[in-house]
Amino acid sequence: MKCPECGAIDDKVIDSRLAKDSSVIRRRRECLSCKTRFTTYERIEETLPYVIKKLGYRELFDRKKIIEGVRRACEKRPISVDQIEAVADAIEQELIERQEKEVSSKYIGERVMAALRQIDDVAYVRFASVYRSFRDIEEFITEIKELSELKEAKERQSRHDVRRDEEQGIQDPH
Ligand SMILES: [Zn+2]
Repeated sequence: MKCPECGAIDDKVIDSRLAKDSSVIRRRRECLSCKTRFTTYERIEETLPYVIKKLGYRELFDRKKIIEGVRRACEKRPISVDQIEAVADAIEQELIERQEKEVSSKYIGERVMAALRQIDDVAYVRFASVYRSFRDIEEFITEIKELSELKEAKERQSRHDVRRDEEQGIQDPH
């Protein structure tokens, strides 16, 4: 985009937002030469991509399906409706901004898992187990192993700390 101030062409995008129910992306940009900030509005051709399912057929991206999957994984967990919707919104916005015509359901599943992992371990494992049981069980087992190994390492570390304290207590002549 051409800077309105100095005419330079190089800029970086600071923020992208999709107006709700609109086909326009609002982008805040900063000119790399003079640091002037300006806003552009870009019309997008196709709002959402088709999702390519594992069996090869495609369907139009549906935010509700993400919400449904995430909601199930989050049952009885301390996670608000807002948090669940935020996961779906972030993925939807990313897809719109990517402007690709097709995206794999695998990719969407991975994005949901990455988001859940940040929010809640239990919800993450639940989603991963349901999602992955149809796809790649080995990967899932590896994931569970990694999680439990991480937990064990933490426990070992805390036991080690206790023991070290005890040893220091014994060695202490006073
Ligand atoms: Zn400039």
